[in-house]
Parts: sequence; C-alpha cells; structure tokens
Amino acid sequence: MGIDITCPSCGHDDRVQRVPAIRATGTTTVYGTDYRSGVAVGSTGMMPVVGSSMTERTFTTSLSQSLALAPLQRRSGKLVFVGLILSIPALFGILIAVVNFSDPMSTTPLPVFFLANFLLISALATPSLLLFWTASHRSRRNSRIAKGISVSKHIWSTGHYCHRCGYCFWPYPIAPGIPARQAITPDNFRRFVWSSGGYANL
Ligand SMILES: [Zn+2]
Repeated sequence: MGIDITCPSCGHDDRVQRVPAIRATGTTTVYGTDYRSGVAVGSTGMMPVVGSSMTERTFTTSLSQSLALAPLQRRSGKLVFVGLILSIPALFGILIAVVNFSDPMSTTPLPVFFLANFLLISALATPSLLLFWTASHRSRRNSRIAKGISVSKHIWSTGHYCHRCGYCFWPYPIAPGIPARQAITPDNFRRFVWSSGGYANL
C-alpha cells in the first residue's frame, strides 16, 4: 500500500512535491570572478593595481528559504585566525613587563608597576579576546544546530508541499507534536522543524 500524499487542502496530488526536492531545486550556487582596481603606493610612487578573486554566492528562492532545514551556520575559523594575530601586541606587552620587572635599577613602586602593566596588557588584549569570545559563541551555536539536525532532518524530509495551494503537510504521523494531514504554511512548517531540532530560538 502506498502512502497517501494528496494535499489535505485541495485533495489533489499532482502538484505535490517533497520538501527536500524543493530545497534542492531552489538553491543555486554561482561561482565567478570579481575584478577590483585601485591605486597602491610603492617605492616608485603611486601605481594602478588590478586584482581578481574567486567568489562563491548562493542564491535561494524565498520558498526554498522558508523550507530550510536549519539556520545558516556561521564559520568561526577566520575570527580565531584574526584573533591570534591581534593577540601579538598583548604578548609583547607581557614580555616587556617581565623584562622591566627583572630590572634591578627600576624605581617604580611595585603596586604602580603591576597596575600600569595590567591596564596596558588588558587594553592590548581586548580586541583579540572579543574575537575569541564571538568565535566560541558561534561554534557553540553551530554544534547545537548540528546536534538538532540529527533529530529534525527526518521530520523535515518527510514534509510535502502543494504547489497548487502553497501549503505544507505531513502525509502521516511522523513524531509527537507534528500534525499529520493538516495544511500548514511554509513558515509554520519551518517552525515545527526548527523546534523539533531545538534551534528555533538560536
Ligand atoms: Zn493543495
């Protein structure tokens, strides 16, 4: 016996499509080259510079966007890299403080020395600490989404969409709390899926 995939709203099944199929056809990734031009200052003076870079853009139709399995995961690798570079001045600050501390000729009172160096090193370290904090926040969010997808993917992939009515539905009971044979809007469909994965409010 086959599964009844007729739309609960119009009773037809000729324009019903599975949600993963809509998602696959609604997303287009375009690779291209961006050209830039500008002026650089070199040893011989100003000179024109022309450069190019490979780009990758993903276009998504609004329907496929509202039927997304999960929110976009933002990468944190670049933030960690920039954070490491920005931490170099603070490391130098610590090094200089250690060198000054072991200077026998120093006349600065100890509390003043510690306070001044603490303030300086904290100020130098703030940008990189902020980046590290953002990166760890992102990776925590990413891992929560990845964990949630293992639950929500099954629910998402059994969803159907009727192109005649613009409604989504599940043709049979798939999980507790997920309505079966009931027409719901794509936005509500996404809310059900994202809530089942626990990442609706991230
Ligand atoms: Zn329909």
